Amino acid sequence: MFDMMLGISNMESMIRCIEPTNGDPPGVTSPMDGVVGGGATVPPLRRPKAAFRMSSSTQTYPIGTPGQPWGAAERAQWLARQQRQRSHADEVVAKVEQLRERFDVIDYGQLVYGQERYPLLALRSRDWNDALPVALVTGGVHGYETSGVQGALQFLDQHGDEHAGRINLLVVPCVSPWGYERIQRWNADAIDPNRSFRADSPAQEAAALMALVAPLRAQVLVHIDLHETTDSDESEFRPALAARDGKPFEPDGVPDGFYLVDDSENLQPAFQQAVIGAVARVTHIAPADAQGLIIGSPVIAPGVIAYPVKRLGLCAGVTDARFVTTTEVYPDSPRATPQQCNDAQVAAVRAAIAHALAQA
Ligand SMILES: [Zn+2]
Repeated sequence: MFDMMLGISNMESMIRCIEPTNGDPPGVTSPMDGVVGGGATVPPLRRPKAAFRMSSSTQTYPIGTPGQPWGAAERAQWLARQQRQRSHADEVVAKVEQLRERFDVIDYGQLVYGQERYPLLALRSRDWNDALPVALVTGGVHGYETSGVQGALQFLDQHGDEHAGRINLLVVPCVSPWGYERIQRWNADAIDPNRSFRADSPAQEAAALMALVAPLRAQVLVHIDLHETTDSDESEFRPALAARDGKPFEPDGVPDGFYLVDDSENLQPAFQQAVIGAVARVTHIAPADAQGLIIGSPVIAPGVIAYPVKRLGLCAGVTDARFVTTTEVYPDSPRATPQQCNDAQVAAVRAAIAHALAQA
């Protein structure tokens, strides 16, 4: 098993969506590629695969000294490159406000970076019943992964009532508002929130979500954490990760299609296949590569890989839910529109809840 053969630190460097970057190296791609790749309304520009298949010896991230982990100066340099490109208030908070008529809104904290403040918002079933199990939906743990955020909001708007009286919904559409605005994977401290779901978390985003969920941990039956795997993972976020940690960047491909990440310490194959089956009616499922892998991990069933989610500090490990999955939508596919990506996230959430309720 790969998780037994590799140390966590080595494994982390292999893990993609569950681990990437943000601005593109100058001269390689336009800085706007990240915006488009993040799932905005403009169709993605495809860059030649060769552009991000350079050998590790020629790929140099523009910050830091190869082989040396970043210090405070390099992190500040990185932060100075991050620019606000869209509005959390307009694209997330305004939609949450529209949903306030039908769901209770929980203001579970505030994200503070310098002078900037972001509200941390969750929505829950209005008829919350402590006797019922809970379905947790999280989006935007990686702020650039747009369909996770918009898919969570769309799910509530279109289908948030369909299991009323059977399960309580707790939906956190945008865990990382600062990253959402900057189409960025990391937070302002150059920390990946989706490695930070652990005690004494260094990431405000993760700490706040953990505090929100802590009283419900044992009550959560199903948790769907909504993500994307983007071309910018390979062109920007993975190179940035390697540079930050003083490690060589090892280029890899980007799978074309949707896939899921199961918990290798709580495998639920029937549950994962129920989700894959529902999403396959909306968008295509990623094939394994020639080595039988997706982003370097063995494909254990069609469209499914697995990580030890709790040990890696992933959001998917934030509860003790029996049914857990991490979705990975591919928004840069020439075969997928932004709406299809949102629809894929919605299909995944609905299938996950339906399967969990049928087994409960
Ligand atoms: Zn992600």
